Amino acid sequence: MSESVSKRIDTKSSAAFEEAKQYIPGGVNSPVRAFKSVGLTPVYIERGEGSRVYDIDGNVFIDYVGSWGPLIMGHAHPEVVRVLQETAAKGTSFGAPTLLETEMAKLVVERVPSIEIVRMVNSGTEATLSAIRLARGVTKRDKILKFEGSYHGHSDSLLIKAGSGVATLGLPDSPGVPESVASNTITVPYNDLDSVKLAFEKFGEQIACIIVEPIAGNMGVVPPKAGFLEGLREVTERHGSILIFDEVMTGFRVHMGSAQSRFGVKPDLTCFGKVIGGGLPVGAYGGKREIMEQIAPSGPIYQAGTLSGNPLAMAAGYTTLKLLTPAVYDRLEEAGARLQAGFEKNAKEAGIPVTINRVGSMVCPFFTEGPVVDYDTAKASDLNLFRRYFAAMIDRGVSVAPSQFEGMFVSGVHSDADIDATIDAHRSALLSL
Ligand code: PLP
Repeated sequence: MSESVSKRIDTKSSAAFEEAKQYIPGGVNSPVRAFKSVGLTPVYIERGEGSRVYDIDGNVFIDYVGSWGPLIMGHAHPEVVRVLQETAAKGTSFGAPTLLETEMAKLVVERVPSIEIVRMVNSGTEATLSAIRLARGVTKRDKILKFEGSYHGHSDSLLIKAGSGVATLGLPDSPGVPESVASNTITVPYNDLDSVKLAFEKFGEQIACIIVEPIAGNMGVVPPKAGFLEGLREVTERHGSILIFDEVMTGFRVHMGSAQSRFGVKPDLTCFGKVIGGGLPVGAYGGKREIMEQIAPSGPIYQAGTLSGNPLAMAAGYTTLKLLTPAVYDRLEEAGARLQAGFEKNAKEAGIPVTINRVGSMVCPFFTEGPVVDYDTAKASDLNLFRRYFAAMIDRGVSVAPSQFEGMFVSGVHSDADIDATIDAHRSALLSL
């Protein structure tokens, strides 16, 4: 890619968005897709292949959104497409058990050390809300503890804005979340074990669980400090609370056995989404048998789903997980490191303060001196600069998330040439700001 800017043509995408707004709230089926935070109109995608997406105006992008994480083996992977076609020809849904569901569960149990038994659902949101209900049901406690700037889906208990201070009882983040629900959610800063301990000193007897992203991925990319996850394990054990790892984003992305294997900490329950569905709507939650057996029909805590364990979804997820060999994880690490090194060099050359946080294939360039260790330090990023950077990147044929608070997802099919072209585009983009 040269330094010249190939400005994106967006005539058809803009018209499509105008029309969509008449029929779909805000024109989109999930808010961030509207590009509101970057002050642009969305790119309408026609198709994807490997590391690329192609829009309806004829633009091509090297894609690091990857459907917000699921497409770890790229778009329309031939093996996933083949299995989907074969599966669809035999029927798309039965609402009855199939053999593939057990194969899928076995694979998850094999790969993730803390998981003895696992239930499939249809999204990350469903996985986290079900795990929370289970934790509350088992402990017979109502309060939960989450971290500022962590997103766990849009269920009421979890859609809570963090207050500042040490251990703030939550206020609803959205109209429609009752204050009575929000008041049961305690929010503390990520990576701040002292605040967690303080919250437990105050409310320990009432806290059903801690839910944590073992690598925070919804405030950019924020790795856990050394000892943070171990500390959560210790505190929850001491107080009879359940430790839930929300691995919707990190699951099967940062390690074959997910973030918990990378960091060597075993939660009681784990939530999955994204990669586990290989691009189809799947979530899952699993963990200790004695806890999971409390779910219906083996136990009294209710959770169900018409399409849970859907054959197409299982086929795409299972095939994707099988494609994820140790060699792929090595490649993800290598490609992520190459991207980070290139971006760091570019920022230095352009004289722009940038902090790049990375864990494996999750990479986030923040526009701040850093370090970025929690939501407050992530928010120190210059969002105006990010907006201009985002526009400069799509004009140069690179698709990154339209938000400073989301990382880039490198896939196993991004080639060195893709990464180098991205580094060139990044350099040119920074120099244009
Ligand atoms: N948990 C985490 C860590 C996530 O990143 C997300 C989505 O981005 C969710 C839960 C919710 O998943 P879904 O969008 O599939 O409902």
